[in-house]
Amino acid sequence: MNFTPPKGTDDIFPPTSRAWRRTLIIWENLAERYGYDLVMGPIFESTDVFARGVGESTEVVQKQMYTFEDKGGRSLTLRPEGTASVVRAFLGSGVQGEMKLAYSGPMFRYERPQAGRRRQFYQTGVEYLATAAPDADAEVIEIGYRFLEELGFPAVEVALNSIGDAACRPAYVEALRIYLNEKRELLCDESLATLETNPLRVLDCKVCAPHLIDSPKAVDYLCGECASHFASIRERLDGVGVPYRLEPRLVRGLDYYTRTAFEYIATGFDAAQNAVGGGGRYDGLAETLGGPAVPGVGLAMGIDRILLAAGQTGADIAPLDLFVVVASPELRERAAGFLSDLRRAGVRADMTPDQRSVKAQFRAANRRKATGAAIIGDEWNSSRVVVRNLTTSIQELISVEEVAEWAKNNR
Ligand code: AMP
Repeated sequence: MNFTPPKGTDDIFPPTSRAWRRTLIIWENLAERYGYDLVMGPIFESTDVFARGVGESTEVVQKQMYTFEDKGGRSLTLRPEGTASVVRAFLGSGVQGEMKLAYSGPMFRYERPQAGRRRQFYQTGVEYLATAAPDADAEVIEIGYRFLEELGFPAVEVALNSIGDAACRPAYVEALRIYLNEKRELLCDESLATLETNPLRVLDCKVCAPHLIDSPKAVDYLCGECASHFASIRERLDGVGVPYRLEPRLVRGLDYYTRTAFEYIATGFDAAQNAVGGGGRYDGLAETLGGPAVPGVGLAMGIDRILLAAGQTGADIAPLDLFVVVASPELRERAAGFLSDLRRAGVRADMTPDQRSVKAQFRAANRRKATGAAIIGDEWNSSRVVVRNLTTSIQELISVEEVAEWAKNNR
């Protein structure tokens, strides 16, 4: 038996998992403050949801899906992204009117694995459904920015573009196709293959992009409505102090985007994967899935990449406030009750699962990175314990009732 996880997946242990947990808590609190309620759906969906939703001609659908047949002969796919599933769920719920939803969980894409590009990766995201208002776009863009800000990213660029809608995009796509045909000799095989079916995807190709810096810009082809929508978003972003850079060739890889497309770039991070999140508006998605027209806008943040870019290992996060050290074995049962009281009082506390020497218990406390210890010895009979700061080794004798407060202050 081989104990390594499947290629492109990770076992995430402490202390790294502590950084994950902290990041996800920050995300959840942020989404809640902005009014997004949690939605939880299946991790696999009928293959149609993604084939139709994400788009047949996209790289995700053509090459990256984990598709399988279940015992009932249904074609199912592990979700490669969250938006198509959330929109499917929204349509299924029959809810009318605006809805603000947040999700988080693992996504699956058969990719060539490397740092920041995994086959199982974790996304957190929001979807603002059933509104076409530009304020919704701006709010969604702001959330991703604030998330990175709260995580302490020193420099984040929001790359922003508008790729128009069904009314104005065809003219742009046609202009792009003509341009790309003139550049055929510079394009890679893959781009040549998608040039006719999905010329926008060629702009997304890392190999070809450097040759296409003078390509037509979608913003030059926007109809009046798309142009004013885009202008309003920029105005709102200016108003709330979210900086952005207009990126005329940003199209993003999924087919469902209309109008707004954006990406968060962790600048200064030199690994290949510095795009830590992105999103856009997808006004045609619900109809593509066979539902009524429901506009929406959303984003997805890639947590694996965010932690990689932030260099967060979790080693600096103390997992325990207090280790209960039982110096008098006959007090072990009392100590267990005391431990339970501390935990209920909000202290992150623990003790060894069996009685050991005091030295061995302190070793366990250090291994668990506790910041303090409470030593249960003879003083217990006068309702007092010795507490020790495990960083400074300073000890004091305090009453049992004071321990919870002491432990919290000692964090
Ligand atoms: P997308 O769903 O392709 O728009 O991607 C949104 C974000 O998810 C990206 O900016 C990445 O941070 C993250 N992401 C996408 N694919 C992967 C992957 N294979 N491995 C790790 N993170 C990913």
